[in-house]
Amino acid sequence: MNHLEKYELVVGLEVHAQLSTQSKLFCSDSTTFGADPNTQVSPISLAHPGTLPKINKKAIELAVKLGTVLHCEIERHNYFARKNYFYPDLPKGYQVSQHTAPICKGGYITVITEAGEREILLNRIHLEEDAGKSIHDVDEYYTCVDLNRAGVPLVEIVTEPVIHSSEEAFLFLTELRKIIRWIDVCDGNMEEGSMRCDANISIRLKGEKTLGKRVEVKNLNSIRNVKKAIEIEKERLIELVEKNQIIVQETRSYDADKNVTFSLRSKEESEDYRYFPEPDLPPFQISDEFIEQIKNALPPLPEQLKQKYISAYNLSEYDASLISADKETVSFFDNMLNHSHHYKAIANWIIGPVKEYCNEEKISIVDFPLNEKKLAELIDLTEAGQINFNNASTKILHSLIANPNQNAMEASQALNLIQEKDSSAIEQWINEALASMPEKVKEYKSGKKGLLGLFAGEVKKRSKGKADMQEVTRILSIKLNN
Ligand code: ADP
Ligand code: MG
Repeated sequence: MNHLEKYELVVGLEVHAQLSTQSKLFCSDSTTFGADPNTQVSPISLAHPGTLPKINKKAIELAVKLGTVLHCEIERHNYFARKNYFYPDLPKGYQVSQHTAPICKGGYITVITEAGEREILLNRIHLEEDAGKSIHDVDEYYTCVDLNRAGVPLVEIVTEPVIHSSEEAFLFLTELRKIIRWIDVCDGNMEEGSMRCDANISIRLKGEKTLGKRVEVKNLNSIRNVKKAIEIEKERLIELVEKNQIIVQETRSYDADKNVTFSLRSKEESEDYRYFPEPDLPPFQISDEFIEQIKNALPPLPEQLKQKYISAYNLSEYDASLISADKETVSFFDNMLNHSHHYKAIANWIIGPVKEYCNEEKISIVDFPLNEKKLAELIDLTEAGQINFNNASTKILHSLIANPNQNAMEASQALNLIQEKDSSAIEQWINEALASMPEKVKEYKSGKKGLLGLFAGEVKKRSKGKADMQEVTRILSIKLNN
């Protein structure tokens, strides 16, 4: 057995997500990203003596919303605790967290792997405040501290150690990000740090029940980097074990440019945080009505929409999942349904030409320049066989975008692309086409039936795409087989 196959990878993820509130967790300072350093810092953020925190109800609402969608049990009796440590970007000298008593327990996220569906179990989701930011690269001699982020509300989503491949970790994070964006709990922007992930990684022999010693990799600023870091860390750990070397429990950092991890600190150096209940904040209760209200206000989730699209509109599994992939596409599709009943064609058009156009122009589907009604007319003309899809999705679509006053019929007529159904015109093109390749016609007649496509293509070319291709194939077969 290859030595890599003896081992099982075990990963648990800790994801910090910044809640989309306008103000901080315990005061009214703004949470807007990108403001000048230290402009969103009241005496409460700065931990001046005598200031008192006050809980932001919206943050609790968002945490409960996320917990509800992720099938967690919601804790009714909650309190915050202090996690004590010293760091320059932590003016209070402690972080207010719920690490010891999370607001959401258990739950799971379903991912679809190559092997099928898997539920990745969650351990908990808890609320906590963010720290400020130490900036090392703006001054030659000093480290600067920006406290705008201090006190911004976060949820930490912690999985059980049940992830067994880098691909699963990738799928989990992709799905989690999709969900938090969908329900407006967090913008999921990893570059701006509103979603951050640490990966706990260990290996063990296959069949082994106890967990191996883990390393925790920090500073993973994209989902792709989480995947890459897990892959190289797995190899490194296996190599250590194979060489009979000891794995030390430690915190490592990932360097994306070099694709390596390196040690930051070992378990021995890790601190004792001396947690105790936060005396400045009262415990808070969550009522059944509060949870009920949040549940009732939830938008339909992607999975529900997907099932609806399959059952109500007969879309394929694949098309339905693409259409339900993001809210913008869903609303585009839903709007189109008011103007046309060719559901499958609408889905095909969105997945195909509409998305292609948006990608080329680097715009969101929200900014697609053609209104739904005109696009629907174009789709209906195509479905009625009056224009062919190729012409419709390129020439006519572009003409409609360039000439906002035209409708689909006018554009098709102006471009002379209305399909010719008249058999005499089609016969004319067919005669010309066949006459231009007598050798091929002979080959066809002696059995090379695959050439039919070539003839059809030639007719299409001669008609400049105007010939109705069903009609062309019908007449061609008659002519060639007599
Ligand atoms: P802490 O709170 O000290 O960071 P936890 O025990 O709560 O540690 O675990 C943090 C994360 O590490 C969780 O996602 C958990 O699943 C994961 N984890 C714990 N032990 C292991 C291990 N041996 N291998 C991989 N992941 C682990
Ligand atoms: Mg941790």
